Amino acid sequence: MIGKKAQLPSAASKLQKEFNFSFDQLKQLFILPHKVTVEPYVRAFQYKVLNSILYTNSKLYKIGYSQHDLCTFCTSHPEKLNHLVLYSCPCSKAFWNDFEVFRFSATLKKINFIRQDFIVGVLLRSCSLLNYLLLIAKIYLWDCRRNQSHPNINGFKAKILIKYETENYIGRINKKMELLREKLVKLVNFSFSVNNVMYISNIVM
Ligand SMILES: [Zn+2]
Repeated sequence: MIGKKAQLPSAASKLQKEFNFSFDQLKQLFILPHKVTVEPYVRAFQYKVLNSILYTNSKLYKIGYSQHDLCTFCTSHPEKLNHLVLYSCPCSKAFWNDFEVFRFSATLKKINFIRQDFIVGVLLRSCSLLNYLLLIAKIYLWDCRRNQSHPNINGFKAKILIKYETENYIGRINKKMELLREKLVKLVNFSFSVNNVMYISNIVM
């Protein structure tokens, strides 16, 4: 047991404590970004999320690099990573609600997200596109924080388009993730079709 635990990053025990993951789930969640994206930046970003090493205002305030610790979006709570990414921030919550409406309109399938899904991804099912979108959504939230703008679903769709082009470029060189790219093409077409009507095609996430 000790040997097994020693193979996991140090952040694993914190995640295990917070979300009660099994050893197999912990392994799975650290591997997941490598299964759904070929872009090193996206993989590295999720690594920072899992290890809680992004410099939020709470962290910056502690080391004297910020004059306050408040959330960039709502300005009424300390800006910790879980606050920014999870439902405790009203601005992030509104964004995730719109994300779910968008996801449902593309797939016509309902998913009941649980809190941990937004941090680590959806572990129970094989849903590469959904997990990819969850990664990009977190990067988008972080970009909004950096630009001091409020997140919105149209900004997220624009981000998907940019990321799709990068993913497509790297993926074609590596000849990896053909299936994910095919799904992304459908999603990008859906996102930018008139009234999202033309391409409603039960995209599988
Ligand atoms: Zn907030």
